[in-house]
Amino acid sequence: MTGTEELRRRTRELLAAHPPASTDRLDFLRARFDAGLAWVHYPEGLGGLGAPRSLQAVVDAELEAAGAPDNDPRRIGIGLGMAAPTILGFGTEEQKRRFLRPLWTGEEVWCQLFSEPGAGSDLAALGTRAVREGDEWVVNGQKVWTSSAHVARWAILIARTDPDVPKHRGITYFVCDMTDPGVEVRPLRQITGEAEFNEVFLTDVRIPDTHRLGEVGEGWKVAQTTLNNERVAIGGMRLPREGGMIGPVSKTWRERPELRTHDLHQRLLKLWVEAEVSRLTAERLRQQLVAGQPGPEGAGMKLAFARLNQEISGLEVELLGEEGLLYDDWTMRRPELVDFTGREAGYRYLRSKGNSIEGGTSEVLLNIVAERVLGLPAEPRTDKDVAWKDLAR
Ligand SMILES: Cc1cc2nc3c(=O)[nH]c(=O)nc-3n(C[C@H](O)[C@H](O)[C@H](O)COP(=O)(O)OP(=O)(O)OC[C@H]3O[C@@H](n4cnc5c(N)ncnc54)[C@H](O)[C@@H]3O)c2cc1C
Repeated sequence: MTGTEELRRRTRELLAAHPPASTDRLDFLRARFDAGLAWVHYPEGLGGLGAPRSLQAVVDAELEAAGAPDNDPRRIGIGLGMAAPTILGFGTEEQKRRFLRPLWTGEEVWCQLFSEPGAGSDLAALGTRAVREGDEWVVNGQKVWTSSAHVARWAILIARTDPDVPKHRGITYFVCDMTDPGVEVRPLRQITGEAEFNEVFLTDVRIPDTHRLGEVGEGWKVAQTTLNNERVAIGGMRLPREGGMIGPVSKTWRERPELRTHDLHQRLLKLWVEAEVSRLTAERLRQQLVAGQPGPEGAGMKLAFARLNQEISGLEVELLGEEGLLYDDWTMRRPELVDFTGREAGYRYLRSKGNSIEGGTSEVLLNIVAERVLGLPAEPRTDKDVAWKDLAR
């Protein structure tokens, strides 16, 4: 197994062969992938070395100290956090080789075509149809809330391939080419004024069967890998102390003594401690991932993330008083990523409202924690054995 010293040696070799100062950014990222230093826990030949995931920090520290470029992970979060582990878990060798390298380098952005107007929390009710025609599937339907669809080259897509069986059993998982002429992407403006997500109309989109991930009818199982990883990607990010939402409000508190009150002080201290506990818990969760794919525990992390972000950004707006109501820009923008830095408190307050919806609502995540982590009795579900086509809609 590749240990710390071996990884350091390999990283230094990479840096010597491709000095960051004189190497094109993309060339460097491709060389890093080929050297197995992209995500060290991935297999050899696919950007990794089969090393423990925790050792990635060794490589990252060496590269950062040498001023090496990164792959801008926030811009390609859906690819890195959700598509990649699913492709790794269920893809053919050919699919892994085709998709993972440009996904990791950021040459190809990914989006997630899961939610539909009638299927969000109840995702398994989805109605987008995929019908087989020879070696291809023809897809028709509508997806919604698709983050980054306007910049994506590929999408992970779930569609109904068998309406005659209960809803969880007739779904198949595909990779969809977002440049197909049948894909239409329309912006959806959010409470922030921006349109980081979209509605996506799929009309006779043709997907080769070679772009199917997993078996026909097994898409729900494949999607669980995506969803469990999504919750960790959203709620379990690696952060420095005072990283995330607690950073700006702590800074304002230190720099603007005239704004302080006793009540706000008590609340800030409580939230600061909770943010730190949440950060350390996320670290522990990532350590558990060293051994494999995340399970439902990520739901708890994402729940805490959403609640804290909303409470902290609310406190920040209160602390700033009238200034907190200022808003930097209402022009509809089409951002490629969600970036809280350099934005005003009002943006953080509004954007964090979505944190308890995206990646599964907090109510639904509470159900997951209750049923799958704590083993409490399940919600009554009357539609489990009814064919999808016979469900009331
Ligand atoms: C910023 C943002 C980005 C997103 N990006 C994407 C994306 O890239 N791709 C994608 O596919 N989707 C994306 N989504 C969609 C997201 O996954 C859904 O909005 C979410 O799953 C909820 O579905 P819904 O909006 O249909 O609400 P509904 O499912 O209709 O829920 C409405 C309300 O009912 C509650 N509810 C529903 N079922 C239960 C239950 N069993 N018990 C208790 N309460 C319940 C919910 O908690 C919620 O309060 C994004 C959403 C947001 C806000």
